[in-house]
Amino acid sequence: MFRGSCHCRSVQYTVESIDDMWHCYCQTCRKTHSAQRNTAAKVDRKNFAVTAGADSLTAYESMPGKLRHFCSKCGAHIYAEFPHLPFVVLRAGSLDDDPGIRVSRSVWLSHNHAWLDEDPSVPHYEEGVPPAP
Ligand SMILES: [Zn+2]
Ligand SMILES: [Zn+2]
Repeated sequence: MFRGSCHCRSVQYTVESIDDMWHCYCQTCRKTHSAQRNTAAKVDRKNFAVTAGADSLTAYESMPGKLRHFCSKCGAHIYAEFPHLPFVVLRAGSLDDDPGIRVSRSVWLSHNHAWLDEDPSVPHYEEGVPPAP
């Protein structure tokens, strides 16, 4: 079992197992996460449980029938779903535990913006950017 939560920890959940995980660069993920990509994880509904803060979740219908669930206090995106389908698509960045599974592919690279790409030639730091001298 793996645990996950939003940033303010109002919303907490558990996952029994993840079936698949991928990076999504689509425009909707970019906008709803305000990030270059979302790491999505397919989880069977029977393996997903919101254990705290269900009343803090709010939903945004990003396309007809697709609900994206966010914490209404801190804004963290937790999962998306088509309510008639037997699985949810977890936002894997909200996991607190390593689920073991690794990303199997990247999709919607046609929506990627090069200005968001990581440049391996620039300095990288384990923690925050050092203050300017
Ligand atoms: Zn929150
Ligand atoms: Zn996407």
